[in-house]
Amino acid sequence: MCGIVGYIGPKDCVPILLEGLARVEYRGYDSTGIAIVSSGTIKVHKKKGKLREMEATLPKRLFAKIGIGHTRWATHGEPSDANAHPHLDTSGHLALIHNGIIENATELRASLEAQGIVFRSETDTEVLVHLLSLAEPGDLEDRLRAVLALVVGTYGIAVIDANQPDRIVVARNGSPVIIGIGDKEMFVASDVSAIVRHTQQVIHLEDGEMAVVQAGGYRTMAVDPSAGGVVSDPSARMITINWSVGALDKGPYAHFLQKEIHEQPAAVERALRGRIDDRHATAHLGGVTLSAREVLDIRRIKVLGCGSAYYAGMLGAGMLESMTRIPSDAESASEFRYRNPVIERDVLYIAVSQSGETIDTLMAVQEVKRKGGRVLGIVNVVGSTIARECDGIYLHAGPEVSVASTKVFTSTAVAFALLGLYLGRIRDLGPADGKRIIEGLKALPGKLEEALATEEQMAQIAKKYAHTSSMFYIGRGLGYPIALEGAQKLKEVSYVHAEAYQASELKHGPIALVSPDFPTVVVLPDDHLAEKNISSIQQVRARKGPVIAVVQKAITEGLADDLVLVPKSEPELDPIILNLPLQLLAYHAALELGRDVDQPRNLAKSVTVE
Ligand code: GLU
Repeated sequence: MCGIVGYIGPKDCVPILLEGLARVEYRGYDSTGIAIVSSGTIKVHKKKGKLREMEATLPKRLFAKIGIGHTRWATHGEPSDANAHPHLDTSGHLALIHNGIIENATELRASLEAQGIVFRSETDTEVLVHLLSLAEPGDLEDRLRAVLALVVGTYGIAVIDANQPDRIVVARNGSPVIIGIGDKEMFVASDVSAIVRHTQQVIHLEDGEMAVVQAGGYRTMAVDPSAGGVVSDPSARMITINWSVGALDKGPYAHFLQKEIHEQPAAVERALRGRIDDRHATAHLGGVTLSAREVLDIRRIKVLGCGSAYYAGMLGAGMLESMTRIPSDAESASEFRYRNPVIERDVLYIAVSQSGETIDTLMAVQEVKRKGGRVLGIVNVVGSTIARECDGIYLHAGPEVSVASTKVFTSTAVAFALLGLYLGRIRDLGPADGKRIIEGLKALPGKLEEALATEEQMAQIAKKYAHTSSMFYIGRGLGYPIALEGAQKLKEVSYVHAEAYQASELKHGPIALVSPDFPTVVVLPDDHLAEKNISSIQQVRARKGPVIAVVQKAITEGLADDLVLVPKSEPELDPIILNLPLQLLAYHAALELGRDVDQPRNLAKSVTVE
C-alpha cells in the first residue's frame, strides 16, 4: 500500500531516493528503508518510524548509481526495524521491496524454513526474496518471473541484485508501479509524486506486467507469458505529467491541508475549464462516451466510493437525482463489493476515487464490469488503475498531498454537477435551469474564496471547542453528506469524536446526548427546509447544547452561539460552499490539539490493500 522509489543512472541515487520517499510520506507509513549497490555489495539502511529517523542513521559518505527505497505500511508483522523493507536474501546479494499482500506467504514460509532458510522478519514480503535466491540461475527478471508463478496476492515489487547491478526489475499486480523515463537515467515509483521532480514522462505498468529498467531504457513483459502473451505496447501508454513541481510544496502555508483548502477556488476553475457548453446550456465531458440514446435508457444511478469519496458520492447522487430526475443513490464500495450485488443493464454505476487506486472501489468496478454493468469513473490521478478501467471524468485538482481530502471532495462535487448538467440536459433539465447551474458554477470559485474568509472565525471556534470529547454534525437533504464529511474531517485530523446525523433524526433518539459540553455543528442552507433546521437548532439550545451554525443568510441574531456566514449559490451547489468552514474547523482543531495534520495517525492516503 505504501511507497516505492528507485533510481538507476549516472547520478548518486541516495538523495534521489530520500527525496522521493519524502514525497510519498503523505500516503502514511510506519517505517522506511533504502538499499543501494555500492562497490559490488548491497547496503541496506532501514528503520521504524519517520523518514528523518532513518536518514539520521545514514553514514556521511554513501554513494551509488542504483538503489531502491520504501515506505512501509505494516500488514504482516508490527512496525519494526527488522520488518521494514528492503528485505535481503541470506547471501545479501538481493534486496527487494514490496507493496501489497502475499496471501500464501504462510505456506511458502513453512516450505522455505523446511529447507533451512532463516527468516529475519515477520513480513509476508521476505518469502519473495528467499524464493528468488533459490530460483534457477538466470537473469534477474527470469528468476522473478519464476517466483511470481508461485505467489498468490497483490504486489508492487522492485528488486536489485548485486550480481547484476545494471538493472532494477519491477512487477505489478494490484499495487501501482510506474516507470519514469529520464535522459540516460530511469526511475521507478509507486506514485508519480516520488519522481515528478526528475521526469514528467511516465508509464504505468498494467496488472500482470513486469519490467526490466536499465539506465538506457526499459523493457516490459507479461509476468505469466502463458496467460495472455505479450502485454500492450508500453510506449503507447506513456503519459506526460503536467503538474508543476510547486504543486508539491507547501508554499506560504503551514501544512498541505491548509494549502489544499485554499486551493479550492483554483481547483474548481480547473475542473470547469473547457467543459461548459453555453450554447446548449450543458456540459462537455470528453471522457463520457454515453450517447444521448444511452442516457435516455438509464433507469437508475448508483455511486460507489469509500471514505470522503463515498460522502462526495452521496452528495453527487443527490445532485444527479435533482438535476436529472433519475433515481440515484450512493453506497460504500467496500460493502458493495462483498454483497453479491445485483447488476442491471440500465443502471449507470459511477466510481469515485481520488487516487484511482482504492482497492475496494477498484474491486467494485471490476465486479460491475464482469457482470456486464457500465461504470464511469470520477478520478483525480491521471493514468491510475480505475481511470484506465473505465470511461470517466478527471478532476484536474492537482496533487492532493494531505491525507485528509479537501479540494478533491470539492472538485468531485463539481464533476457531479457537470455530469448532472450533461445527463440532465438530455433528460428533464430545461435550458433555463441548465443556464442557471452554469452561471452558478462560473461564480463558484469566487464564492468559495469568500467562504474561505471565515478562517479566522473558524480558528476561534476551534479554540473554543477543540477540547470537547464529542460533537454532533447535523444537516438535511444535500446538507447531510456535508455533515458526514465535516464529522469525518474532524475525526481524521483532530481525533475528536464526531457523529453526523440527519437533522430530522435528532429528535428520534440522539438528542438525549445533548448537554452544555456537547456542541452541535449545523449545516444550514438557505432553502425550503431552513425553518425545519432552525427548529432543530432550537431543540438543541433548549437543552443547553452549544450550536455552531454554518448559514447562508443572517438568521435571527442569537439563534446560535456561533453563526458562520457563507455566500449563497444555486441550491444544487450550496452544499459545496457550506463544507469549507467545516474543513477549516477540523484543521484548526487539529492545530489547537497539536496533531500531525498532514499525516494523521493510522491513516493512509490511498488504501490499496485489503
Ligand atoms: N505486506 C508487506 C508488509 O507488511 C508490505 C506492506 C506495504 O504495502 O507497505 O511488510
